[in-house]
Amino acid sequence: MERRSAGIHYPGSFGEFQTWFQSDADCLDYLEWLRWPSGFVCPECGHAGGWRLGDGRFMCTDCGNRTSVTAGTIFDRTRTPLTVWFAAW
Ligand SMILES: [Zn+2]
Repeated sequence: MERRSAGIHYPGSFGEFQTWFQSDADCLDYLEWLRWPSGFVCPECGHAGGWRLGDGRFMCTDCGNRTSVTAGTIFDRTRTPLTVWFAAW
């Protein structure tokens, strides 16, 4: 794992934070990028490649497994907006 740098891998200031994460979609994009830096990889079968579903989840194009980027994280099944979680970090 390469070292993470402020301004590249995470916001370096609160102003930058607000620019990066204006909506839950921005937060999800960021989580996706952290989890799958080079694109979706199925956690079930290891197949690289999937469709993003309308609800923000991914479906593996090989085995059909559906997963969300927040599965297994503190963001899973939370009703708290992601922007609030991110601000609390
Ligand atoms: Zn799969």
